[in-house]
Amino acid sequence: MRKTDLKTLTLPPLLLTMMTKKALVLAAAGSSSRMKSSGKKEYLSLNNGTVLSEALKVFLEAEKFNTVVVSFPKGKEKECSISLFLDSTIKDLLKDTLLIFSEGGKTRQESVYKSLQKVPSETDIVLIHDAARPFVSKKIIQDVIKKTKEYGAAVPGIKTVDTQKKINIDNTIECHLERETLVSIQTPQGFLFNEILACHRLASEKGLSFTDDSEAWDSFPSITKGKKVFVTEGSEENKKITFSSDLKKSEETRIGLGTDFHRLSEGRPLLLGGVEIPFEKGEEGHSDGDALLHAICDALLGASGKGDIGSFFPDTDPKWKDADSKKLLKKVWENVKEDGWKVENIDCVIELEKPKLLPFREKIIASIASILEVSSDRIFIKGKTNEGLGSVGKTDAVKTFCVCLLKK
Ligand code: MG
Repeated sequence: MRKTDLKTLTLPPLLLTMMTKKALVLAAAGSSSRMKSSGKKEYLSLNNGTVLSEALKVFLEAEKFNTVVVSFPKGKEKECSISLFLDSTIKDLLKDTLLIFSEGGKTRQESVYKSLQKVPSETDIVLIHDAARPFVSKKIIQDVIKKTKEYGAAVPGIKTVDTQKKINIDNTIECHLERETLVSIQTPQGFLFNEILACHRLASEKGLSFTDDSEAWDSFPSITKGKKVFVTEGSEENKKITFSSDLKKSEETRIGLGTDFHRLSEGRPLLLGGVEIPFEKGEEGHSDGDALLHAICDALLGASGKGDIGSFFPDTDPKWKDADSKKLLKKVWENVKEDGWKVENIDCVIELEKPKLLPFREKIIASIASILEVSSDRIFIKGKTNEGLGSVGKTDAVKTFCVCLLKK
């Protein structure tokens, strides 16, 4: 017998020996009701991104996935997308992967079923993972994939440390369980795709609810042909974040201040925060003169210790002549966020005699929020007049102030 034949014989009895098409379902459609005021747990910041993006990153770095489906609570698609791409490396990691967002249902089971229905039918295996477990390891993922290929279904589990009892509804012990036979189950749970989809479909049709996907798998042996779920080795670190205190963060915050001052003259557009305000005069300047965006640039650069707007875009450089300040701020932000900074909040004052800014406030805030990839409730803008005094009071100038708080 040749060496290669021997090698073939020693391989485990794989169900799938060919290249497998893999999908990942990230379940993140829950309401996070136990997080109190801190918001949805999957969107909380963690390292350079969020709980959601950190969880996805581990999978994409561990294995190639043809498809990723991310579920989100009803009406939260935008927040979900922002949270996912907050870490700038995610986009690159996803470049050969089909990304699908899927609106959740009333229960986790319903959300997972809706997500599974979006997975392309040619998929061989699917991993279903709670996005609230961002500390999952590459080894756990690779073990689950390996055993799913061999057994048809695999889930990570950890041995229970405490003695376990089954109790009655009146809190008395019904029976004493054998600890050696018990494991706590984690995610990702891996399955042959067509089978787990069929299990979920049948569960939905019959109105059955399960505690997890492995129970759905085990409940329909007619579909799974009785294939048992293999339990791989989980880890204590792969815990589910339930309270915000579960995210051990060594947080760093920095404050930044920026100001700007531009002359106003006729024949120039009045630009504030990337929004053109109808007025007879506008800012003079080497760039488009947007005094608000310039103050924000300086605040961000100051907070992150990266310099100032003058060193980034010298007004002696013809490249920046009439430059769109939205692009300047974008460039500044790309640079600042490279160091892992996120905007906690930004507060601005615009000193302008005329016109009234209030009608434009929402638009200005939205414009800045979109450049800085934060929700608009983290940005605030106030307009002030100068009571007719000085150059601002005579509508010859606009003055802007910005403070920002960065966090990582
Ligand atoms: Mg300026």
